[in-house]
Amino acid sequence: MLLTSKEEAELGELVRKSALLNAVKHDGKAQPGAVIGKIMGEKPEYRDNVKKISTLINEVVQEVNSLPFEEQKRIAEEKWPEAFVKEKTEERRLPPLPNADKYSQVVTRYAPNPDCVLHLGSARAIVLCHEYARMYKGKFILRFEDTDPKLKRPVLEFYDLIRQDLAWLECEPDEEYIQSDRIPIYYEHAEKLLKDGNAYVCTCEPEDFRKRILAQRSCDCRDLPVEENLQRWKRMFEGGYKAGEAVVRVKTDLDHPNPAVRDWPALRVLDTQKYPHPRVGSKYKVWPLYNLAAGVDDHLMGVTHIIRGKEHLTNEVRQTYMYKHLGWRYPEAIHYGRLKITGASLSKSKIVQGMQEGVYKSWDDPRLATFMALRRRGIQPDAVKKMIKDVGPKTSDVILSWENLYAYNRKILDPTADRYFFVQTPIELTVKQVPKSFDVKLNLHPDHPERGFREYSVKPQGEDNHVTLWVSRKDIDESRVGTMLRLMELFNVKIEKANVFSAEGVFVSESYEDARKVKAQLIHWILIGKDMPCSVVMPDATLTEGVAESACRQLKPDGIIQFERFGFVRIDKNNAALTAYYAQK
Ligand SMILES: [Zn+2]
Repeated sequence: MLLTSKEEAELGELVRKSALLNAVKHDGKAQPGAVIGKIMGEKPEYRDNVKKISTLINEVVQEVNSLPFEEQKRIAEEKWPEAFVKEKTEERRLPPLPNADKYSQVVTRYAPNPDCVLHLGSARAIVLCHEYARMYKGKFILRFEDTDPKLKRPVLEFYDLIRQDLAWLECEPDEEYIQSDRIPIYYEHAEKLLKDGNAYVCTCEPEDFRKRILAQRSCDCRDLPVEENLQRWKRMFEGGYKAGEAVVRVKTDLDHPNPAVRDWPALRVLDTQKYPHPRVGSKYKVWPLYNLAAGVDDHLMGVTHIIRGKEHLTNEVRQTYMYKHLGWRYPEAIHYGRLKITGASLSKSKIVQGMQEGVYKSWDDPRLATFMALRRRGIQPDAVKKMIKDVGPKTSDVILSWENLYAYNRKILDPTADRYFFVQTPIELTVKQVPKSFDVKLNLHPDHPERGFREYSVKPQGEDNHVTLWVSRKDIDESRVGTMLRLMELFNVKIEKANVFSAEGVFVSESYEDARKVKAQLIHWILIGKDMPCSVVMPDATLTEGVAESACRQLKPDGIIQFERFGFVRIDKNNAALTAYYAQK
């Protein structure tokens, strides 16, 4: 099939449109396969010509991908604004909760153990619980599950840090509970279970009990009369048993296929002289275990929908026995799949260990995926929330990467962050034969000239009419002597000499067109004397040193800017020198 020149032009335009829109969607890199698919979908008549069209598509994709992201976006938004309007209105909603209409009010809860700060791995539970509560105009509860002073020892500072983390994520709870304030409530329910013969105090050696239960046989404690069990219960409080010597067990089917479900432990004796609780000290000897405390609380707090990871599936089975014993109805339970973020350590124990060993200096160390670290780097809470909402509560496992999070974050920062120049590893560039003074106005944002500009006056000095500028050693290293470079928004220069400390060049012309014709590299620069020292803390905790332009002096800590050709950074400190944290490209 031959195409008329009109058809060819039309096809070319269609390919360019698909490629640009695809590039904007994928961080500046259009995928040829996706573009081919799109074209074939819209123009099935070209299917016979796939080969020829693929060549054209590859060419166009390559050309589009060579444009800077800013440029791709500008062209795409200008030419096909409708494509962007559509995307904005397509805010994804979470799938409905099961049986929400059965309850007068939807109640969800997030229940952390205060033994660490929150991190990306916690985000799914928090965001889903909070969003669902908002979606149904319900209630979102924060419950500190701090009933293991021995192995999952809570630490006082984390109660507050977790509250702050939730505030940062804009997922503030409507109600808050702390389990260590509620110990008598758990006793009351344990006693009821014992009185009704639905639980017993087991004093067997753990190993003996394990062998019996694996063989689906009960221990002798199980069949003791209620009176005897209540006496044992009393003895647990009076110091009649040492830590580990007595456990309250909830009765289940002994032949349940999962041995971990059979007669699960609900309360135990702890040596709180040795392991005092940070909030209630040695006040209690008997402590509830996870399933009793969480199960009782979910019912008493009116939780209607438990949203948690599928590693809790067995806990639901265990608790269902207790709910039956107490005549309660188990809430709706949604168990989502694992969420892995490649390159991020989401193991709480590894984070805590790294802190204890001094590998990390603080909870907001940029190498960590803690909310505190994300905040310090300038990752926006809305980026985390949107990413989690898009993943939703599905049961399959999901693997994401930092790049996914950055893509969400870029959508927020790109239109808001002002642009500045930062020259890393600066060297001095002397440009000779500069014919006149240049008053340069650099827009703070390419799409928003109304936000203002930075202004620099570049005046030639001396007999040879030279100007001296800071440029990055990397930029000079990458260009050969004799090639032309364009100093952004200033002029074109030909490099004549370069070593690791300095470079020399000569003025060529002012016109951007000249630079474009020879595909000259565009580099940023800072006028010597109009600079300030600047260090950027990178995600691997190393420092990138350099100079920032003097307009950065007015920047306030916490602000987020884009250093052109370097990346988005959050201003951390700004005194005589600037310290910034690197967010992303
Ligand atoms: Zn026993």
